[in-house]
Amino acid sequence: MNASRRRVVILGSTGSIGTSCLKVIDCLPERLQAYGLSAHSRWQEVLEQAHRHQSRYVAITDPRAAAAMRGNTLPPGTRFLDGEDAIATMVRDPEVDVVLTAIVGSAGLTGTWLALDAGKTVAVANKETLVMAGPLVMELAARRNARILPVDSEHSAIFQAMQAGQPREIERIVLTASGGPFRGSKRSELADVTPEQALKHPTWNMGRKITIDSATLMNKALEMIEARWLFNLRADQIQVIIHPESIIHSFVEFTDGSILAQLSPPDMCLPIQYALTYPERVSGPARRLSWSELRSLNFEQPDLEAFPALQLGYEVARRGGTCGAVLNAANEAAVSAFLGGELSFLDIPRVCREVMDHHHYSERPTLSELNALDRWSRQEVLRWITAKAYNPSR
Ligand code: NAD
Ligand code: MG
Repeated sequence: MNASRRRVVILGSTGSIGTSCLKVIDCLPERLQAYGLSAHSRWQEVLEQAHRHQSRYVAITDPRAAAAMRGNTLPPGTRFLDGEDAIATMVRDPEVDVVLTAIVGSAGLTGTWLALDAGKTVAVANKETLVMAGPLVMELAARRNARILPVDSEHSAIFQAMQAGQPREIERIVLTASGGPFRGSKRSELADVTPEQALKHPTWNMGRKITIDSATLMNKALEMIEARWLFNLRADQIQVIIHPESIIHSFVEFTDGSILAQLSPPDMCLPIQYALTYPERVSGPARRLSWSELRSLNFEQPDLEAFPALQLGYEVARRGGTCGAVLNAANEAAVSAFLGGELSFLDIPRVCREVMDHHHYSERPTLSELNALDRWSRQEVLRWITAKAYNPSR
């Protein structure tokens, strides 16, 4: 075995990011090794991954799936983990070099936290962690001397472009957004859109939750907040522009007026690979830009009336404190209700706004206060849905 191979733990290995990460590892066997894999319920899939990659660990976080998995034949040398300590055991293993956090939603916070606490390099795909608890997560990373590397394509682009200057030389960053499946639609045209329509993303192939977030532009709101904490920027240094081709992944504007961007076809393999092999660049599985097919790159200003989630993003990035955890949890509950047919598309930002506006704000919450607010916000969304069922004109 090559001693210089990086041993990678993938939290959420059965998801869209997790499987792209395994594709990168497959392509770079001299550099990377899938050392630990975790999934929530899809145990057959993660077991198959463990066999294929001969991983040291395979973890299941859903107790019912763990029970179903028990008794199945594991690869020789693979340890099966379940229960509360499964992820902690895996990320604390001294042999682990990098942890990719690719669990969806606030469920990803614990694993990210544990990996940083163990002083690991953490490749963060789970943006919800930074939205919920950005300042606490960044403080923990600094205290433990743990490095955070962004995987979100926009943040990877910004991270790459920022290497051309000093942090104090950054004037602003501009996040690009594809605009999602409803780009160009007026607010009135969005009232009756169905989950099936919202799940048809024009440029990216992703998990269901982030695909809905891309349709409401809540994904860009979450990314503004993510960028605010990750790069220690003020909210007024963060802008958003619609770029339908998803080829320019974001811009950094420096104080002298110079603007740098990172370009590549929309394929998450590239930002994942960059985080895993950083600071080196090597040839990998990511798609290449076809210069002979490229005709134009377009830009539009976002429509804040049709996509009010963006406004929430600006506000939360500015106010900080408890706002991120509340917005994130309300949005998760609202997206799941929309997918379940209990809430309309336009109700997603509407209910998030209401829950945000009547929560008890505090500027420097603790992690346990944020977790309590996460639970409270989800209950508030359910309460709002019940109240609306009795009074549909609301
Ligand atoms: P996904 O739904 O495809 O996969 C989610 C993964 O998380 C699965 O492996 C699942 O087993 C695991 N999981 C789900 N619930 C869990 C729970 N309660 N406890 C433990 N594990 C759980 O999601 P995805 O699209 O891969 O996104 C993952 C994260 O990466 C999200 O935070 C998303 O915002 C971010 N991200 C995704 C993309 C993308 O292209 N998919 C791009 C940028 C950022
Ligand atoms: Mg993104």
